[in-house]
Amino acid sequence: MSSERRASRSRANPLRVSFEFFPPKTPEMEATLWRSIERLAPLSPDFVSVTYGAGGSTRERTHATLARILAETTLRPAAHLTCVAATREEVDAVVRGYREIGVRHIVALRGDPVAGPGTPYEAHPGGYAQACDLVAGIREIGDFEISVSAYPEKHPEAASFEADIDALAKKVDAGATRAITQFFFDNDLYFAYLDRVRARGIDIPIVPGILPVQNFKTAAGFAARTGASVPAWLAERFEGLDDDPETRRLVAAAVAAEQVFDLLDKGVEEFHFYTMNRADLVYAICHLLGMRPTLDRAAA
Ligand code: FAD
Repeated sequence: MSSERRASRSRANPLRVSFEFFPPKTPEMEATLWRSIERLAPLSPDFVSVTYGAGGSTRERTHATLARILAETTLRPAAHLTCVAATREEVDAVVRGYREIGVRHIVALRGDPVAGPGTPYEAHPGGYAQACDLVAGIREIGDFEISVSAYPEKHPEAASFEADIDALAKKVDAGATRAITQFFFDNDLYFAYLDRVRARGIDIPIVPGILPVQNFKTAAGFAARTGASVPAWLAERFEGLDDDPETRRLVAAAVAAEQVFDLLDKGVEEFHFYTMNRADLVYAICHLLGMRPTLDRAAA
């Protein structure tokens, strides 16, 4: 697709994007997050999501970040929530707390094992056992929009792709209306996964999760923990740039733009960006996608 056609398509049928943030730990991190939110808000994302730390470790900070987004911006926030290390009652209380401040969208996850990825997962005896049980529990509490995760390279714990896609089907049957994928760098993996999911009769949007590579070593570390593969060509593009942040940033923008343009050319119209609380790369990619600030949706 030519850039002219891309631009005219994006005017006729605006793309939808969402941005993921994590709750800040320090006042400095909070300032960085808010600079990023203020920069990205005028792009009118469909929603912005705030993650939930392993084992509920960020429960208060996630809640506080959501509350501030609701109080100070016109953005629609989505709250991540996991089943880990909590009873159903505790998790339900978090859902009710979200509802009380005006959150209407939850990203419902099982979460990682308490001892970290790669160790066996054990559900809390009084808790929600699987993400599909959490989705059903949230449905009982209120009329939330519910997104869930999806794994183009299959979740590392899944015995097979079929088992993992069956698990996604259970989440959809329980009431999930959107899946957001784990990040991936090879778009063929996403499209092959999409074929499997559609063949299984799952028809909810499977929104690609895009991780702009701000720092190759960090991204490779995330990938190793989450089971995402890192193609040799990606490593080569960042080779020799460890001490050259300026070139790294330019290369990162080029690599991410190439990925999203290829997805766009193949019909993808909705993207979820893992921002790592940084705006610049994501803003640049959205600009390249034809998105422009609309002042009425800006952070107050
Ligand atoms: P699930 O879909 O629950 O799958 C986990 C494993 O269990 C898979 O192997 C699956 O096949 C299997 N499984 C699922 N359902 C069933 C079932 N009914 N019966 C049998 N087996 C089943 N982690 C956080 O701690 N906080 C976050 O905010 C967070 N946000 C995320 C956002 C996105 C978009 C993604 C992709 C991941 C996120 N994670 C987050 C990471 C996630 O918690 C881990 O990957 C975790 O290991 C799995 O939880 P899940 O809900 O993603 O996977």
